[in-house]
Amino acid sequence: MADLYGVLGLGADAAADDIKRAYRRKAREHHPDAGGDPERFKEVTHAYEVLSDPERRARYDRFGDDGSTRARGGGGGQDPFGFGGGIGDVIDAFFGAGFGGGGGFGGAPQRERSGRDVLVGVDLTLEEVLTGVTRRVEVEVAATCEPCGGSGSADGSAPTRCATCSGSGRVQRMVRTPLGSMATATACSACSGTGRSVEHACTACRGEGRRVQRRELDVDLPAGLEDGDRIPQRGQGEAGRQGAKAGDLYVQVQVVPHAHLVREGRALHTRIRIPLTTALLGGTVRVPALAGEEHEVAVPAGVQPGEVLLVTRAGLPVRGGGRRGDLHLHVDVDVPRRLGRKEREVVRGWAAQRGEDPDAPRTVEVRRP
Ligand SMILES: [Zn+2]
Ligand SMILES: [Zn+2]
Repeated sequence: MADLYGVLGLGADAAADDIKRAYRRKAREHHPDAGGDPERFKEVTHAYEVLSDPERRARYDRFGDDGSTRARGGGGGQDPFGFGGGIGDVIDAFFGAGFGGGGGFGGAPQRERSGRDVLVGVDLTLEEVLTGVTRRVEVEVAATCEPCGGSGSADGSAPTRCATCSGSGRVQRMVRTPLGSMATATACSACSGTGRSVEHACTACRGEGRRVQRRELDVDLPAGLEDGDRIPQRGQGEAGRQGAKAGDLYVQVQVVPHAHLVREGRALHTRIRIPLTTALLGGTVRVPALAGEEHEVAVPAGVQPGEVLLVTRAGLPVRGGGRRGDLHLHVDVDVPRRLGRKEREVVRGWAAQRGEDPDAPRTVEVRRP
């Protein structure tokens, strides 16, 4: 990895002015028009590009040089290295030939012509997670323009290089800066930065090759999907410009809460409230679960509040199907809030049988909650 400070003969603590001065000196030394080595000149310029931009310098200090250079083309402008004006001449000569654009000297490049990905959300119930479902989704997204078949051309001719920017998608402007005049690159307005133009633009899409359209598609959502899962629909995103590659559509799943079931992967949990007598004597309870299913569950005598009873294979499948998980029944015991006079007598009699005196204070077992 190149030591960019070393290239300019500086230490890592160099001030902005030092960097400027060092670059001026080194550029003069290595400028190809003055018989210097083009490779050395490129290195020097790259080092200056990175280190003169506070953001890129900070990134370089932390992560090192990613090697990316915004400059393209060789040196050798028409200026025979007069250098009277200082640094500006060097930059002009260097970037004049074909500045790729972006970064410290211009805006972000706009060369990307393929369509963007699109995200659309769908709500699923647990029942739909259980069975899987085909869902119609509606998106409003730039789609291939039908009249021109995506070419952007009214007469079917292929797009040509944009004359304004020679196909680079960027045009240069000279800007005065403290370093002299510099070339800055901005997106070409003639071709919207695509670098391509069509002679007879399609009137439906004004040469873009795509138009915003409402589109419906049926998406297959298999059983077992989880909250946040994304189902890709390749090529169903935004159409690319002038027939370039389309983006993808992602259908993102949101599982809506169920009235009485809580999901945990393949498992389902629910709370059941059983009569006190069932807890004491045992019995059978009927538990409504998913999609109209009802389970008859045997409750053992003496079941404790908070105990969990399992109903096997009454949960959900994993994605792609397979064995269902279990349904977990968390037991609550319904203690009657009020007893009739007769009931109270019965319970008092039962307490006496167990050798308990309900009127006497009793020491109870304690533990951490
Ligand atoms: Zn252009
Ligand atoms: Zn069109």
